[in-house]
Amino acid sequence: MAEIRLSSVRKSYTKTLQVIHGVDVQIADGEFIVIVGPSGCGKSTLLRMIAGLETITDGEIAIAGSRVNDVEPKDRNIAMVFQNYALYPHMSVYDNMAYGLRIRGLSKADIETRVQRAAKILELGSFLQRKPRELSGGQRQRVAMGRAIVREPAAFLFDEPLSNLDAKLRVQMRLEIQKLHRELKTTSIFVTHDQVEAMTLADRMIVMNLGVVEQVGRPIEVYDKPASLFVATFIGSPS
Ligand code: ADP
Ligand code: MG
Repeated sequence: MAEIRLSSVRKSYTKTLQVIHGVDVQIADGEFIVIVGPSGCGKSTLLRMIAGLETITDGEIAIAGSRVNDVEPKDRNIAMVFQNYALYPHMSVYDNMAYGLRIRGLSKADIETRVQRAAKILELGSFLQRKPRELSGGQRQRVAMGRAIVREPAAFLFDEPLSNLDAKLRVQMRLEIQKLHRELKTTSIFVTHDQVEAMTLADRMIVMNLGVVEQVGRPIEVYDKPASLFVATFIGSPS
């Protein structure tokens, strides 16, 4: 588990255009944070900088008290769960989850323990020998989460992992993610453009617009006392 701190973080993809304009956020160990805002506001960019998949133009990111600006993604001990969960189609569920541990050189026994533990949490125990094509969309999404869980990372980063799912499954997966967080208490940052999803999942939410943090607070605070007209309109508008 880990605290994550962003200090004056800026990002420009090109010389002339800044897309993140100085973000300061402190995320407590074990907190579930949702970054919410309209498409193009910089949510993925922020998440990718935390994961180390994108360089920081200016400012500092610290994980568990250590500056990570120059630390490789694989050494940040963070797991990213994407919207397009690319499972290996030719591998079983077990092997999909075990793969990342094998390449890290874990022993067979350790891998077995971790995969079985994740499978139990995600209720995938009876599907371990199946191939991804023999699973439902929700089950596949759980396998994608399983791959992140087995790594036992200090934090989970979710980039709109539910956006491709139908409404019913989305609600179901939200509950799964909440359950997961209750059990593991791993620091989590969840990105979405859906304000209802944000309100449901967040301990605290970060509302973004045009590369700027408009407000940080518990869902009820943000809902009751929006800090700007943008927040009032965005959170108040039906999804
Ligand atoms: P969100 O995830 O909130 O939809 P993004 O972080 O993907 O927003 O994008 C923020 C801004 O940065 C957008 O204006 C987008 O066009 C721009 N952008 C994102 N990725 C790149 C890239 N690789 N190169 C140049 N511009 C990018
Ligand atoms: Mg995005």
